[in-house]
Amino acid sequence: MWENKVKMKSHSSQDTLFKVTDVITEGWTMSQAYVTLATNDGYAIGALVLGHSLRSNNTTKDLVIMIAPAVSEAIKSMLESVFNKVIIVDVLDSRDSAHLSLLKRPELGVTFTKLHCWTLTQYSKCVFLDADMLCVQNPDDLFSHPELTAVCDIGWPDCFNSGMFVLVPSVDTYGKLLQHAETSGSFDGGDQGLLNSYFPNWQRVSFIYNMVASATYTYLPAYKQFGANAKLVHFLGALKPWQHRYDAGSGSVHTAPGYEHLAPYLNSWWALYNRLVKPGVPEMDLQRALEVKSPVEEVKEIEDQVKVNDSEEEHENTCASDHVYNGDEVAQQLSGLSVAHESLQEGQARWERGEPDYLGRDSFANIQAYIDSKIKNGK
Ligand code: UDP
Ligand code: MN
Repeated sequence: MWENKVKMKSHSSQDTLFKVTDVITEGWTMSQAYVTLATNDGYAIGALVLGHSLRSNNTTKDLVIMIAPAVSEAIKSMLESVFNKVIIVDVLDSRDSAHLSLLKRPELGVTFTKLHCWTLTQYSKCVFLDADMLCVQNPDDLFSHPELTAVCDIGWPDCFNSGMFVLVPSVDTYGKLLQHAETSGSFDGGDQGLLNSYFPNWQRVSFIYNMVASATYTYLPAYKQFGANAKLVHFLGALKPWQHRYDAGSGSVHTAPGYEHLAPYLNSWWALYNRLVKPGVPEMDLQRALEVKSPVEEVKEIEDQVKVNDSEEEHENTCASDHVYNGDEVAQQLSGLSVAHESLQEGQARWERGEPDYLGRDSFANIQAYIDSKIKNGK
C-alpha cells in the first residue's frame, strides 16, 4: 500500500547516458527508506509511534524496521501493518562476519545491529532514525543529502549524533565498518563513536532534523526562534516517552521530575500512541512492552543491591575527607534515598539538563568513592 511510485522521464537522445543514471537514482527500481531499530517491545512501541508520525506527515519513502527475535508476535504484526519491511536481525546467533567481529569485540552489541542498515542494498539511500524519535514535519528532503549527513551532537558538537544519519547501503561499506570496529573499536563503546571515527568528513544539516527534546530547556531563546521549524524530535536520554506516565483522565502526561519541559512533545507522542498504536495491540502485550525496564531502573536495581550488600557487612570508612561520602552513603544517594531527597531520576534529569552538582553529589570525590564502592563489592 505504501509502495513508491516509479518515476520515468522522457529524454532526448543526446543526453541518454546522463539521463539513464538520473532515472536509476530517482527510484526506477531503487527506492529510498527510513530505517529504525528495536531490540525489545519497549523500543518497538517507540518505533510504531515514529512510523505513524512519518506516515501522518505524508512521507513518500518506505519504512523499514530491524527487530530482534525478542519482540513479541502481537507487536511484530502491528509493526508489519505500519512498516513496509520488518527485518529480523540477530547478530549473536548469526554465523556471518558480524558475528565473528562481535566475538572479538563483545562490548559492541547493539552497535552491530544498527550497522545492518548498510546491508539494505535494495534501497539506493536510507535515513536511519532512532526509535525514540518523533516526526513533526515532513523530513523527506534529507534524502537529497549524501552519505554521511547528520546533526551535531549536543554533548560534543564536533561529533554527529547517531540518532539520525543519511547512508547509502553497500555491502562493501558494511564490511569496512565491521573491520573498522574490529581493529579500532568505538571510543564510546557504541555506534556513535564507531561511526564518527569511520566518517570523519560527515556533512552537517540543521538541528531541526534531530532536535533533542531537552534543547527546549537548555537554550530557550534559540528554541523560541527556531523550534517551530523542527522536523524530527529526539527523546535522547534515560527516560523514553513510553516510560512516562499518561493520565487518561486529564488526557496528559505526568512527566517524571526534571522532565517537565518535554511535556508538549511527550503529549504529541502519547496522542499518536493512544490513537494509532494502543487500539491495535492486545492489552497484555502493551502492558509488558511499557514495563520494559528503563536504563535508570536497571541502574537503580544494581544500586539497591550494593546497598543491601553494604549493610550486611561492616566496613571502614576509607574516604579521605569529611565531605566525601562512603560507599553506603553513595549507594543510598544513587538509589533514591539521598539526604538531599533527590531521587536517582531527578539527579539524572538534572545531569541531562546540564546542571551537574559539581561541589556536591556529582563531585569528583563522590564519583570516585562510588566507583571504589563498586569495585569493593565486586560489581
Ligand atoms: N535500541 C534498541 N534496544 C536497546 C537500546 C537501543 O533497539 O536496548 C535502539 C533504538 O532504536 C534506540 C537506539 O538503538 O532508539 C539508540 O538508543 P537510545 O535511543 O536509547 O540512545 P540515546 O538516543 O538515548 O542515546
Ligand atoms: Mn535515541
